[in-house]
Amino acid sequence: MRMSKLLIPTLKEDPADAEVVSHKLMLRAGMIRKLTAGIYSYLPLGCRSLRKVEQIVREEMDAAGAQEVFLPMVQPSELWKESGRWDLYGAELLRFKDRHDRECCLGPTHEEVITDLVRRDVRSYRDLPLNLYQIQTKFRDEIRPRFGLMRGREFMMKDGYSFDATEEGAEEAYRTMWDAYSKVFARCGLKFRAVEADSGPIGGSFSHEFMVLAQTGEDTIVSCDSCSYAANMEKAETRPCEPAEAQVESAPKKVSTPGMSTVEQVSQFLRVSPEQLIKTMILSSENGPVAVLIRGDHDLSPVKVKNYLKVADIELADQRVIEEVTGGPLGFSGPVGLDRVTILADHAVRGISSAVVGGNEKDVHLVDVNPAAAFRVDHYGDFRSAVEGDPCPRCEGKLILTKGIEVGHVFKLGVKYSEAMNAKFLDAEGQERPMIMGCYGIGVSRTIAAAIEQNHDEDGIIFPPPLAPFTAIVTPVGAKSSEIDLAAEQVYRDLWAAGMDTLLDDRDERPGVKFKDADLIGIPFRITIGKKALAQGKVELRNRKKKEIELVEISKIADVVKEELEKWASEVRS
Ligand SMILES: [Zn+2]
Repeated sequence: MRMSKLLIPTLKEDPADAEVVSHKLMLRAGMIRKLTAGIYSYLPLGCRSLRKVEQIVREEMDAAGAQEVFLPMVQPSELWKESGRWDLYGAELLRFKDRHDRECCLGPTHEEVITDLVRRDVRSYRDLPLNLYQIQTKFRDEIRPRFGLMRGREFMMKDGYSFDATEEGAEEAYRTMWDAYSKVFARCGLKFRAVEADSGPIGGSFSHEFMVLAQTGEDTIVSCDSCSYAANMEKAETRPCEPAEAQVESAPKKVSTPGMSTVEQVSQFLRVSPEQLIKTMILSSENGPVAVLIRGDHDLSPVKVKNYLKVADIELADQRVIEEVTGGPLGFSGPVGLDRVTILADHAVRGISSAVVGGNEKDVHLVDVNPAAAFRVDHYGDFRSAVEGDPCPRCEGKLILTKGIEVGHVFKLGVKYSEAMNAKFLDAEGQERPMIMGCYGIGVSRTIAAAIEQNHDEDGIIFPPPLAPFTAIVTPVGAKSSEIDLAAEQVYRDLWAAGMDTLLDDRDERPGVKFKDADLIGIPFRITIGKKALAQGKVELRNRKKKEIELVEISKIADVVKEELEKWASEVRS
């Protein structure tokens, strides 16, 4: 692979429309180009990295006993109507009609297609378990595609589906995929965590997200500083706290709080800390309104409330509902005397001894409120988002918050699709049962973007070697001479012969330009061939990540690069 022949259009300046690091650097390194909003072409370098991720994924899926298939991207609406998702899936599903006026969509995911495939040919428990996967282009019509490959409309994904006859089998399939995913991301050389994710009405810990740790990540990961507990923000549990000793025997007192409706305003005005306030939030769901009490400095977790109430949707109630329920205006709701609605309270509310609450009338709050005596709570539970420093729900450690990028998801589906689409089998007793399914996704193109978000510096990308478009680059420098060219050619051949994919920068460019491009593209090892070192039979080896240069005998260069690669792998493993 000679650089003079390859299409590698590097850019000196940051492209104006790129917001995140990976997007900027992939454009600048000539890896991708935008065709239209959220849709990208992969140039030779981008394509090589993509194929490397795919290959790692493929090898680990095959090793775990999954079988590769390839499913159509265009899907008929009938299947989506059977599963009920034709109406439920929003505008992200790109729908269109063919020339015969038949409704179709571009697949954002393949649960329907795979369930249809399996139900046709699998009839008996003897044919199960089955685990099928594919690596394929998906389309999701994001309203605001941004961040390059991080949130594109068209993207490359590995999606896999397991079918089992028993619950135990389904759980084993889940664990097998969990292990395989851990191996995939470890082999990619990425720092990642598998975190418990919200699995909605299924419950249990049968949904994990694999997150690449990066400061620029969009998702917050909650993890323990001393045990292996990790969860995403929606799922992260908080520990119940002990009820506070009641300090107040007297009844709550009314105070005037003119125009003070936020926690900040009220706590400043009354000179109390936000931890002493109780926010009373009136929420609406399809089952009517509910009041949720949250400590002033905490944030409500709508997902936790939704899961507890087992409702599909929940939102802040509007002014009219608030007035109906509390008798007072927005911003002054409180739990005292609130008898028309179910009251849920977060555990932390119990820990407040003398609280400030809304008075259910304009410009009025109540102080000296004892949660144990002054109002009714129908259920105490975990209804808030975790915060840094919260006690770990599993051990004596403390929770810390970090940022991550979701690159994989394993999920136990159960019988949602097999029941809706009649994917049934006969068990050993001849009973007909729905197959128990799991689904497993890896964002293949997103993994490259996440790798760059995690590994870069001011000069460009620092690819972990397994994902780099090339492992090494040979860079002859200085005045053109047949001696230097011959040596470069020799090193280039030696590296390929030793199994390392290598690029030869044979362009007629200044050394500075060649070095800058090699750094920008993020090739892990650069071998510079210059006159001075060559006179002693040596070449320069530079490690992109460590920025260290060593002189190596020209005949040993392939062995030394190999050793460096092994060193890298053992550092990543530890
Ligand atoms: Zn812990």
